[in-house]
Amino acid sequence: MTISSWIAGADGSGFGLENLPLGIFATDDAPRSGVAIGPSVVDLSMLIRERLIDDETLLDARSLNAFLAHGPGAWRSLRATLQRLFGETATGDERDAVMRALVPRDAVTMHMPIDVQDYVDFFSGIEHAINLGKILRPGSEPLQPNYKYLPVGYHGRASSIVVSDTPIRRPHGQRKAPDAPAPTLGPSQMLDIELEMAFVTGPGNKMGESIAADNVRDHVYGYVLLNDWSARDIQAWEYVPLGPFLAKSFATSISPWLVSLDALEPYRVANRVLDPEPLPHLRVRENYAYDISLEILLQTQNMREQDIAPAVISTTNFREMYWNVAQQFAHMTSNGSRVRAGDLFGTGTISGHEPGTYGSLIELSWRGANPIPLPSGETRTFLENGDTIALHGWAGTGPTRIDFGEVRGTIIA
Ligand code: MN
Repeated sequence: MTISSWIAGADGSGFGLENLPLGIFATDDAPRSGVAIGPSVVDLSMLIRERLIDDETLLDARSLNAFLAHGPGAWRSLRATLQRLFGETATGDERDAVMRALVPRDAVTMHMPIDVQDYVDFFSGIEHAINLGKILRPGSEPLQPNYKYLPVGYHGRASSIVVSDTPIRRPHGQRKAPDAPAPTLGPSQMLDIELEMAFVTGPGNKMGESIAADNVRDHVYGYVLLNDWSARDIQAWEYVPLGPFLAKSFATSISPWLVSLDALEPYRVANRVLDPEPLPHLRVRENYAYDISLEILLQTQNMREQDIAPAVISTTNFREMYWNVAQQFAHMTSNGSRVRAGDLFGTGTISGHEPGTYGSLIELSWRGANPIPLPSGETRTFLENGDTIALHGWAGTGPTRIDFGEVRGTIIA
């Protein structure tokens, strides 16, 4: 059912009353908390000072962490309050107060929505895992024996997570060609992307306690888009036997608007049937995925100079994943390790079944064998300096569509 807002441009924008994503924005003064509605941001501190919102964790907040720590009761209370204030039943005084707190979204700078405490990246896109197995270990079984028993992941670097539009410096590192006797040090020549989503946590657990998969909604607030920039040449040499290290930790970008699980609830769909059946801690009462459309856009420097719009090089859907948020979260805490408010968990690269639906350049170009054609006449295998990558995500179509906005980054030398 469509619910309608009195705020101009909100209905049907992807940022209507159904969405209400939270972020940290600035005009020319201090960063503060806001909610996106249509083409605007509403300054939440102003609504708190007017006593229209009673959750003071968001007052002059430089991150959403304290609000996230408050838990699902506070999350649902704020959502209900905002839907009432921005909806048709708001009083004249309430509308006046909201009008005073409105800022055009294209006039603000977005900051990191959370102060990331810990960062994990999973590997739960099974098509991606199969593709990388075929590319990196040809002739052997593409999936490792553990893949269908546990959500494989690694701990990444929280301090290297940046918000959309932060330039990405090409990393230097050790690379070794398969036939070379020794590695060399230099700029990565196989700089890649990974199309992912990431969930953000609220209340965590005490050390030694695990969290059951069916209780995930009490601990996970919602999702952002994530680009896990990856230096494949550095990765190929360093990852044995402990996994990714410097090939990933130079930068990871996220979208600025945090979309809640409550907003995504209408887009829950049945997940694929898992075979073999998961072990007890990974069994869920409802085995669900989220139907979220995703795309990757690439614009080279040459395209930008010629005014050629960014080209869509892949389209896929989040529902393609093998393990879902409940299983990833339950597995993470199954040994009693701690989760805190503001932890970030990448899903793993999201790839579909055929070329054109893959979530990384190493898959889209099949490690350089099939260069990706662009409208400028150029081609790409891996990223060149001056290339801009944007990831877009949205759920649904029509007036109740939920938009994630975008996560974007440009490669600099
Ligand atoms: Mn990744």
